[in-house]
Amino acid sequence: MQLITLLNHCQHFPGFVYDKARLCAQTKSIEIEVRPRRGSKPVCSGCQQRGPIYDHQSQRRFEFVPFWGFMVLLLYRMRRVDCRACGVKIEQVPWGCGKHQLTSAYMLFLAHWARKLSWKETAVSFHTSWEKVCQAVEFVVAWGLEQRTLGPIVAIGVDEIAYAKGPQVFDARPGSRQAARACCGSAGSARWRASSSSSS
Ligand SMILES: [Zn+2]
Repeated sequence: MQLITLLNHCQHFPGFVYDKARLCAQTKSIEIEVRPRRGSKPVCSGCQQRGPIYDHQSQRRFEFVPFWGFMVLLLYRMRRVDCRACGVKIEQVPWGCGKHQLTSAYMLFLAHWARKLSWKETAVSFHTSWEKVCQAVEFVVAWGLEQRTLGPIVAIGVDEIAYAKGPQVFDARPGSRQAARACCGSAGSARWRASSSSSS
């Protein structure tokens, strides 16, 4: 089974094609070229509408989830859109966000592990830097805050909240060990917990 076949199964992006994959033994990385599907128009990053191509930019590298210890990089030449509403704008790609060098999938992956391990342990385990783990957590927290809808909630009358699949239950009753731990964790983890709970 080829790597591109696997990628198409787990991360298929309509309008784009995984073109070629090559192994770079020296840098212990796998580079995958991505190109737009023939005839597909780019999406404007300002208004999310499709528009005609203005020009092509130089190739960008996006870090994807590592595979068997190899760094995986998506290589793509960004297009600029000649948008009727916004003028000339860089296109929006489904695997990335703004100027982030990491793909959204990789940021979600790192942020997921950063909830189970410390940020440093996460960085060491996946051969990345503490800064990238921090960037990933900030991205997920910001995304969660954007999705949060604050309605007219007065009080939540429950003592226990299910926080994962299965029998795990967070005991929110005053005086419980979990409630105390949630209040007294380290600054980083408390911030993460607070943000992740507000987004759920
Ligand atoms: Zn636009």
